Amino acid sequence: MPNINDYRDIVGQDIIDELHILGEKLQDKTVQNVNSTAVGGGVAEILTRMVPLLKQLGVNARWDVIKGNEKFFNITKKIHNALHGVNEDISSEDLEYFLEVNRENVEEISSFDDIIFVHDPQPIALIEKKKDIGKKWIWRCHIDFTDPQPDVMNFLKSYIEKYDSAVFSAPAFSRDISIPQILISPSIDPLSDKNKELMPEIIYSVLERFEVDRDRPVVTQISRFDYLKDPLGVIEVYDKVKKYIDIQLVLAGGGATDDPEGIKVLEEVRSKAADDPDIHVILLPPGSDIEINALQRGSTVILQKSLKEGFGLTVAEALWKAKPVIASAVGGISLQIKHKYSGILTHSIDGTSHYLKQLLNEPEYAQKLAVNGKEHIKNNFLITRHICDYLLLFLSLYHKDDVIYL
Ligand code: UDP
Repeated sequence: MPNINDYRDIVGQDIIDELHILGEKLQDKTVQNVNSTAVGGGVAEILTRMVPLLKQLGVNARWDVIKGNEKFFNITKKIHNALHGVNEDISSEDLEYFLEVNRENVEEISSFDDIIFVHDPQPIALIEKKKDIGKKWIWRCHIDFTDPQPDVMNFLKSYIEKYDSAVFSAPAFSRDISIPQILISPSIDPLSDKNKELMPEIIYSVLERFEVDRDRPVVTQISRFDYLKDPLGVIEVYDKVKKYIDIQLVLAGGGATDDPEGIKVLEEVRSKAADDPDIHVILLPPGSDIEINALQRGSTVILQKSLKEGFGLTVAEALWKAKPVIASAVGGISLQIKHKYSGILTHSIDGTSHYLKQLLNEPEYAQKLAVNGKEHIKNNFLITRHICDYLLLFLSLYHKDDVIYL
């Protein structure tokens, strides 16, 4: 794990000084993060980096993962999909079971700290404990809330409103709720194995290991195998472009312990890819950070054809590596890409295919987009900015009406 001061070369001394000053003001506080998976997906990715860095700044941070069986995670996946606007049938028994598992988890958590920072809907009902223990509670939503199924949203709303504040990733996700809402977008860690610079030999050896030919263009999407990431749509894009340009496609990702749908999606992707030797469907085990880093760096163009997206860390990861990105104009992706300036935003398979051909045919234009994209990520979506926002949020819980002097 890098030292917080190692980020100085990237973001400058002033930002590091600011983090130390804010951290000092929270020395006596413990922040307890709670989510539903230790590996896989963006939330785990961020917490893995965030918790040790907060500790280095003197904030006592910890991270608990709730437990659930397959039935629970099938229900939470349905809730997750419904919040993303997918029509899901969720029964009152499902919701009752969801609450029951949350209550079991409350009993299992051995102690509660000063600030309980709950991530996403899976553990949202832990808040029922607030009436017994008090403390400060924050709910952090990482998902795309533009068009949620109303009944599921209303069910959650009664829990959200018990928190002291709610954090969303993009302005479009704010809701009509009675508690303060704060906009904090996610971030990537430029010094993690996932994002650090790699020697060309490492990139080449990973491409070789996955039998990807580096003399022909490589188009890549890194994602959990999830319908909302539209991997099947990506294959259609590939088919359309392959008629004109001899590309290879990499679809790489793993699962998350709280996402039981992954295996089914992976099977469909494999069957659609059939035996095309230029489509590489790669199932990555947890901890494949260097592999993902190398695949991103070894690619000609990165796609993120999500149908919904809370933020899309994979977009920030690719842009940080100065790679041209074509991504859907959904959710938090629009915060990261300004169309035709720092990447390309698309709305369809045809649109994505059109721009993919263009970027492959015009590498100088593609590189210009990528360089602008990297600058945008550097200025807005690195972990130092994210930590600063969180520290200010924690302080604001105790100093509601005060001005905080640095
Ligand atoms: N990721 C990973 N292994 C995988 C697939 C994804 O480490 O097999 C990482 C990916 O690099 C990114 C995060 O998981 O850091 C996914 O975050 P994103 O916001 O893109 O999507 P989410 O999975 O949270 O919907």
